[in-house]
Amino acid sequence: PSEISEFVDKYVVEGIPKEHNDALRKMAESFAVTDDKMRDIIHGFHESMQAGLNGDRNALPMIPSFVRRRPTGKEQGTFLSLDLGGTNLRVCQVTLNGDSTHKLVQQKFTITKEAKEKTLFDWIAQCVSIFIEEHDVVPNSGESAVRCGFTFSFPIDQTGIAEGNLVMWNKGFLVPNTVGRDIVRLTQDAFLRKHLRVKIVAIVNDTVGALMTSCYTYPDSELGIIFGTGTNSCYWEKMSRIGKWKCDNDKTGEMVINTEWGAFDNQVSVLPYTMHDNKLNRKSPNHGLQVFEKMISGLYLGEVTRNAILHLIDQRLLFDGRSSTILNKSYAFDTAYMSEIVSDESDDLVEVKKVIQQTLEIPSSTLQDRKVVKNVCLMIGNRAKRLSAAAMVAVLLWSRDSHTDTVTVGIDGSMYQFYPGFEKSLYDNARPFLGDDFVDNKLKLRLSKDGSGIGAAIIAAVTSD
Ligand code: BGC
Ligand code: MG
Repeated sequence: PSEISEFVDKYVVEGIPKEHNDALRKMAESFAVTDDKMRDIIHGFHESMQAGLNGDRNALPMIPSFVRRRPTGKEQGTFLSLDLGGTNLRVCQVTLNGDSTHKLVQQKFTITKEAKEKTLFDWIAQCVSIFIEEHDVVPNSGESAVRCGFTFSFPIDQTGIAEGNLVMWNKGFLVPNTVGRDIVRLTQDAFLRKHLRVKIVAIVNDTVGALMTSCYTYPDSELGIIFGTGTNSCYWEKMSRIGKWKCDNDKTGEMVINTEWGAFDNQVSVLPYTMHDNKLNRKSPNHGLQVFEKMISGLYLGEVTRNAILHLIDQRLLFDGRSSTILNKSYAFDTAYMSEIVSDESDDLVEVKKVIQQTLEIPSSTLQDRKVVKNVCLMIGNRAKRLSAAAMVAVLLWSRDSHTDTVTVGIDGSMYQFYPGFEKSLYDNARPFLGDDFVDNKLKLRLSKDGSGIGAAIIAAVTSD
């Protein structure tokens, strides 16, 4: 109980009635992640990782990536790469110089709603065709097609470096008749329909791209993580520990495993799952799935917060019980507004006031209202930070005996890049589990910038050797 008060007391707001603070305390308690809770979660991760590596379909997916060789930095050549994320498609031309440096030319296309729900592969082919024309991309002499690495930010069951069947969509995508089918095939067919001379030689998860990019510059990279619209990680695993590996008899060496940790604890046995999470989960197209992801990633945090704010309004504990059309609309409260709100340190919370008035269209708010809103954002943001750290720590501890001295973690994504204090919280929250010496001197968290674009090119380079 003394530990929990540390996660509750700081959210109390001075000058509001006791019932209001009681409600805030209750809410804070439901979002609290104590060190004990972190320990349970880390333990849960280890059990689920182990089971997943042995093929248990109810555990973490732990998908073999077919990537078995660490980049050396000497990889060379010019490649096309595609990065299909939750929000954008990036088409890149990547030149690897062979000395750990690279050159990147890229163009970003915002994924249309129609593409997400219907025409995705033809839309991708259209974007590639625009890029190729604008940047004069042609096959290398002696080759009939441009070699392309495809970073695909959704789970696929890989059966080879350039083949894999879609497990499911998430992050708001739902393209009909594609689950269970080979993504490379679907994309390549769309290229053929447009007569594009582009051949996909590798398909990789975005976390794998982040790890490869990180390894290209920092050979001690062990983990790749995305904290963004969605969340996930991958790491180097010993072949001998991948019990379910049946593709060949080679159990020597190592392979990158895509954990798909967004699917952790879908049964919610250890996660601090609240009624606000439940509300989101129940209404989402992939309800019951990606439960962990829904508690920590950018696509969802604003929505959890909106639910929590509405809960206070409905009890007449905030804004005098008044909501607005905007606030009543699903996903209308973007995670970026949370960032703005939690970083407002001014006495009268002017930025918070702006968001409330201009974005949420609630004409007037008291200072106490604004403090309550800020505290709700803090509770939910801090929970995300604690859970993110627990997941990272779990994988670091799991792969610890392969760490010699220092360990680099290549990280990408909007939460990591833009959510206030996110990186620092990863270090701080890891301390009780990894020790001060490790956190201060051995652990290096680094932005794996454009990892998805470059990583796929690195794998394409290694593959075409
Ligand atoms: C997907 C992962 C991906 C992650 C980060 C999740 O929704 O399932 O495959 O790596 O988002 O983009
Ligand atoms: Mg991405």
